[in-house]
Amino acid sequence: MANTALITGANRGIGQQVAWVLAERGWDVLVGARDRQKGEAAAARLRKATGKRLKAVELDVTSDASVAAAAQKLRDGAIRIDALVNNAGVYGAARGPEGVARTIETNFFGPLRVTLGLLSLLRDGATITNVTSGLGALANFDDERRRWLADPQLTRDALAAGMREFVRDGGKGWGSDAYGVSKAALNALTRLFARELAPRGIRVNATCPGWVRTDMGGRGAPRSIEQGAASVLFGVTASETGGVFRDGVPIAA
Ligand code: NAP
Repeated sequence: MANTALITGANRGIGQQVAWVLAERGWDVLVGARDRQKGEAAAARLRKATGKRLKAVELDVTSDASVAAAAQKLRDGAIRIDALVNNAGVYGAARGPEGVARTIETNFFGPLRVTLGLLSLLRDGATITNVTSGLGALANFDDERRRWLADPQLTRDALAAGMREFVRDGGKGWGSDAYGVSKAALNALTRLFARELAPRGIRVNATCPGWVRTDMGGRGAPRSIEQGAASVLFGVTASETGGVFRDGVPIAA
């Protein structure tokens, strides 16, 4: 029986490339997309290109209802997940407090919501890969924030409360933009879930694609989509857990 992967935000960019590579490797791939038509179109495109098994799943990572509906659909189809890739993300979503809220909601609460919503569908021994960024490195924050984010006593509730407070404060006080804060919090969440899910043999890592030529990264970025996706894919089969990696090498985060 083939392994199954679900990738959020897989209708374009790095997520689409990750879907492509996993399909080529013989995985059954669920192409997550918030827009149903874009998801169907991407899945059809990838099926045509690879001749493999890919299906679209409508999934907006900012919506509890959307995640619940996706989970129900998978449950109805008796689908179990071997690899979840929390790839969907936004950068520079909008200016001001609205942009801060959208960035934290998508990049931090999105992976949290999707992981919790799909947890019962993940097989024991599955992997979760959170797509992060070097901009979330602890070195970008002051001592107090650094200690807080790296504190082994930090709980999921406290981390989420900290992110809600950051949004309430309009993104002020961290000395970094909302994108960097969202990815630093995602790295912390990765460490928390790694500990929490270890009894089930689920490995949880964050992987950074580097600066990649996508709609987000822009044309001037030094890395190809293939390179970025390869860096992300390390998490799908990693034997490690709780780490932050770029190109399979741990990075300080
Ligand atoms: P991209 O080309 O802008 O694609 C982003 C994807 O995320 C799209 O499929 C988008 O869907 C989806 N998305 C956004 N909000 C969503 C939501 N609420 N629900 C579901 N899907 C949503 O970006 P990318 O460069 O491939 O980035 C992928 C990941 O890599 C992100 O997490 C990003 O932060 C990270 N990353 C990228 C770079 C880089 O240089 N590109 C560097 C470091 C990290 P729509 O088409 O519907 O908008």
